Amino acid sequence: MTEEATNRNGGSGSGPTLKLGIVLVLVIAVGAVIYAKRQPGKPTSVDAGASEQVSLATAEEPANAQKAATSPVKTDKVPRLIDLGADKCIPCKMMAPILDELKKEYAGKMEVQFIDVWKNPGAGKEYGVQMIPTQIFYDASGEERFRHQGFFSKEDILMKWKELGVDLAVEPKAAESFSRWEPAQPDSRPKDSICYLCDGDIVSKTWTVMKTPAGEVAFCSPHCYIITFASITDEDKTHENASVTDCSSGELIPVTAATYLYGMDEHGRPTIKAFADEAAAKEEQKRSGGSILPWTQLEAKEMVTRCGFCDRPVYPEDASIVRIEGLQTWACCVMCALGVAARTGKDIELEAKDALTGDPIRVKTFEGHVAELEPPTAVAWGGARKDAEGNIKSTGCFKQAFFSNEANLKKWVEAHATATGRQMTIQQGLTAKMKLTPEQISKACKIGECTPK
Ligand SMILES: [Zn+2]
Ligand SMILES: [Zn+2]
Repeated sequence: MTEEATNRNGGSGSGPTLKLGIVLVLVIAVGAVIYAKRQPGKPTSVDAGASEQVSLATAEEPANAQKAATSPVKTDKVPRLIDLGADKCIPCKMMAPILDELKKEYAGKMEVQFIDVWKNPGAGKEYGVQMIPTQIFYDASGEERFRHQGFFSKEDILMKWKELGVDLAVEPKAAESFSRWEPAQPDSRPKDSICYLCDGDIVSKTWTVMKTPAGEVAFCSPHCYIITFASITDEDKTHENASVTDCSSGELIPVTAATYLYGMDEHGRPTIKAFADEAAAKEEQKRSGGSILPWTQLEAKEMVTRCGFCDRPVYPEDASIVRIEGLQTWACCVMCALGVAARTGKDIELEAKDALTGDPIRVKTFEGHVAELEPPTAVAWGGARKDAEGNIKSTGCFKQAFFSNEANLKKWVEAHATATGRQMTIQQGLTAKMKLTPEQISKACKIGECTPK
């Protein structure tokens, strides 16, 4: 495992059996949530956020009157967007960074104004606003063209202007973003000493290989092999093509024929050693502890905790923690964690770590948007490469990271000469996931989609 892939928790207070029991219950509970949420007919569009609007209308007032005739209209020659809200309502708060961005990117081309109707109660009446937030679109002649109630994403706002035939006549200034598409230094390790999945160094004692039509693929451990096997969508997949190193002799033996010693390292992270001979496994068990498992039980144990987005097995010690309505699930990486919001259609709370410093980073989503970010300067690194046609391809879960700020990201990239990809906002990472169709989500992280190299 590479250090960036491994959020190791020190200590192992509870016994593994008890821990796995809890894990299993949680996985079932989260699975139920995911299942319930994946039922058809559940809209997940931003408009669902309408339920979070705050009503300003009294019972006698008509609910959807569009009476803006009395609005004071400026005589300048640019279109104008007014957002009427309050600083305490959640969807209103989510509008604030969007308004800021629009203000900056379309300076001189569009006027953007926020009015707090709780601080200026007169304004709500003046603009005929029943709910907050409400956005009113005025064209350059000052005529009201459209109004929208509830959270309105930046993409939707820009699309609406276009629909209204209002040409903002300027390409938004692309946000300055850091990227690197060629490794600063090529990976000098011999190919067969690099784990196909996690990119970690292969230690000869746990070397695991899988024969594929394209050649042999090497893994650092049976764990990385099992994750990869779980990603294969081929119906005819079989463990017959895989071999593992016998710890005693160093010879390769079929994975299904080995006896495994499932132990724990000093960080509380599982370790797997394979033996051709059960007696040798028991000898090692006397020295280092752990439990003896045949292949079928090892695989079943590995498959107990899975990523809430891509379903692949993951050790909680390596995972990002995601909470959905108080239930906890895990994710292979920070991008998978954002994907849990897309897969479940629920708001999530994500606890991640700065890949450089280990400092906590917390993300809360609301209707597919980042509603809270702690620290607010946090950014994402989207590990990726460009293919021959220039298309951006993910380099897999083990190459994705969050940082507390841009400076940490740059330091980390500098220290990882082989890393390629680009800086993203966490919202961009989430938006990419929210755009996936259920079909794409069901295929996410499957072989070929985000192969490490
Ligand atoms: Zn590995
Ligand atoms: Zn995943």
